[in-house]
Amino acid sequence: MRLILLGPPGAGKGTQSERLVTAHGIVQLSTGDMLRAAVAAGTPVGLEAKDLMARGELVPDEVVVKIVADRVEEPDAKNGFILDGFPRTLRQAEALESMLAQKGIKLDSVIELSVDEDALLERVERRAREAAAAGKAVRSDDAPEVVRKRIGDYKSVTAQLKPFYSERGLFAVVDGMAPIENVTAAIDGILADTRASAS
Ligand code: AMP
Repeated sequence: MRLILLGPPGAGKGTQSERLVTAHGIVQLSTGDMLRAAVAAGTPVGLEAKDLMARGELVPDEVVVKIVADRVEEPDAKNGFILDGFPRTLRQAEALESMLAQKGIKLDSVIELSVDEDALLERVERRAREAAAAGKAVRSDDAPEVVRKRIGDYKSVTAQLKPFYSERGLFAVVDGMAPIENVTAAIDGILADTRASAS
C-alpha cells in the first residue's frame, strides 16, 4: 500500500495516517519530520534546509527528492508508506514518478482530505481558545493569520498536483470534515477499490 495523503493543516491527516499505519503495517514518511531531524542532527542536508525552513520556504526539490528516495529503500518502508508533505511541487511529483518507476514501486492512490476553509479556521481557533482557557500554551502555528497562510500555501500545492494525479487516475477526494470514523471508512473504501482494480 503506497499512498500520498494531501490536506491542509487541521484536516486530520495525522489522525488518519496513524490509523492507516496500524491497519496496514506501513510507515508514515513526513518530509517535514525528516528535514527537522536532519536539522537537529546537523547533517549537510540539515544545514542546507535550516534557514529555508525557518523562513517557511521550500527546500530545493532535489534535496527533498533525494531524502525520500533513500527513505523508501529502508526495510520498514518495504511493506508500504504514506507520503505526508511530499510532493509539494509538480517537479517533485514528476521526480517521484520516475524514481518509483526505477525502483519498480507502484503508487496506489493520492487521497485529498478536503475541508471547508471557514469551518477549519473555526476549529483551529476553538483549539487555541480552549488551550488558552486551560492555561496551556497556544501553538504558534495555530494563530489565525498563520493558519490562513498555511491553507493558502496548501491550495497552490493541490492546484498543481490534482490535475497531475487525476490524469493518472490516482486522485481521490474524501470529506475531511466528516466524523473521524467516516473519514477512515471512506479512505478504506478507496483503498479497497484500488486493490480490486489492480487484481
Ligand atoms: P511540514 O512539516 O510538512 O509543514 O514541513 C516543514 C517545512 O519543511 C516546510 O515549510 C518546508 O520548509 C520543508 N519541507 C517539507 N516538505 C517539503 C517538500 N516536499 N518540499 C520542500 N520543502 C519541504
